Amino acid sequence: MQRAGTGTGPPPGTAALDVLVLGGGPAGRALAAACAGHGLRTGLADPAPQRPWRATYCAWPEELPADLPGSAVAARPRARAVLPGGADRDLGAYAVLDTAGLRRHLDSRLGGVTVIAGRADAGDVRRHGDRYRVTLRPAGAAGAAGGRATAGTAGAGRAARHGDTTVVFAALVVDATGAPSRLRPAAGPAAEQTAYGVVVTEEAARPVVAPGEAVFMDWRSPAAEPAPGWSDWPTFLYAVPYGDGTVLLEETSLARRPGLPLAELQDRLVARLAGLGVPVPDDAPVERVRFPVDSPRAAAHPVAFGAATPLVHPATGFSVAPALQLAPAVAAVLARHLPADPGAAASAARALLWSPSARTVHRLRRHGLQTVLDLPARLVPGFFDAFFAGRSGRAFLTGRDDVPGTLAGMAGVFRAAPAPIKRRMLRSAVRFHPIR
Ligand SMILES: Cc1cc2nc3c(=O)[nH]c(=O)nc-3n(C[C@H](O)[C@H](O)[C@H](O)COP(=O)(O)OP(=O)(O)OC[C@H]3O[C@@H](n4cnc5c(N)ncnc54)[C@H](O)[C@@H]3O)c2cc1C
Repeated sequence: MQRAGTGTGPPPGTAALDVLVLGGGPAGRALAAACAGHGLRTGLADPAPQRPWRATYCAWPEELPADLPGSAVAARPRARAVLPGGADRDLGAYAVLDTAGLRRHLDSRLGGVTVIAGRADAGDVRRHGDRYRVTLRPAGAAGAAGGRATAGTAGAGRAARHGDTTVVFAALVVDATGAPSRLRPAAGPAAEQTAYGVVVTEEAARPVVAPGEAVFMDWRSPAAEPAPGWSDWPTFLYAVPYGDGTVLLEETSLARRPGLPLAELQDRLVARLAGLGVPVPDDAPVERVRFPVDSPRAAAHPVAFGAATPLVHPATGFSVAPALQLAPAVAAVLARHLPADPGAAASAARALLWSPSARTVHRLRRHGLQTVLDLPARLVPGFFDAFFAGRSGRAFLTGRDDVPGTLAGMAGVFRAAPAPIKRRMLRSAVRFHPIR
């Protein structure tokens, strides 16, 4: 391989970037900002870099970076779980992020980053000597917002336009295109988390959630009798406050292959809220959720980050807090090797993200997910009853490289599970799922 600056560099007039981050979600923005903070010539490409985020992001507070400003957090409720029989479990501190505040915080750090409107798919990222040549295309076939990939903010001269596309040369490319990664075509149907939610006032939500609390999972049935056409797949209610007098109430299917259809989740939510006496205005804002929770770990090149790598916890779907927390450390190891040695930079980033203990925890979590997917639907609520009865469940939910904590969490579930679920768990353990 040639060293940087010898031979097959970018064509004249297209100065290279040290790192190009593909995807301007929370993970990509946090990493791009941290890379620029280390003095790396950094690009951030997204089909719609200015599009606001709409999702409600929540997290376990211990996974958030210590320096996250208060403006990025909307509420810090206590979370509880409601078991199928109606009993309660206290799950401890929880955090509801302020999506717009988080975005403002991350954007305020992008000053030194070249932001480019354009998307790259699998064939658009190519090795070019010792660096990458990335073709960025307009957002939509018909060309959203004028249909051109455009370079904006600082350092616009680092990208070269060719008709409708922008060509960028970078020593290293980071795939932060979310889950599923746009650079790695999915092999077969994914296990998906799906949910349908409405936003109502705290007052209206009072039968479900009290001020200062969140309901992480309410496993009681959405209706006394399932409506015709509903599958037997169990779903739960998720309720989180936004800290502004409103609350999100969301009917959620944790993981199913394929995901439970949103229309059925909407029906179940309507039935559940009617049964609980929660009024929902016709114009209540709506949240729709669908994303895979079992994406395979990415190959070494290009480096993947955020939901693309995947940092996604298969049992909760969470990845935002770990991405925010890991971004500075990943940027630091990239800066140690770039631009001189992109190969070493990629290996160091991968080693940091996927240490042996992080890989072990990932396998254990994925095994846990497969165990739930293999359970007959009627046993799933009982499994979560045991999950929250086992006192170390929180360690399973957090701590992405905490092998003892994860194992203790899984053992706690086993101890608390009734015999039929224990038998299923043992059967699942015997054929430990060989998951990447
Ligand atoms: C409604 C909803 C609610 C969620 N709630 C939570 C939660 O409470 N807590 C939590 O941790 N997680 C949550 N998740 C899951 C997950 O953490 C989020 O999807 C999160 O946004 C992942 O962050 P990311 O930056 O890795 O990817 P994304 O946020 O998905 O960002 C990927 C970016 O890549 C861009 N992109 C797409 N294709 C290309 C391409 N070809 N080239 C370049 N760029 C491209 C996209 O425009 C996007 O901006 C939720 C997901 C959804 C959908």
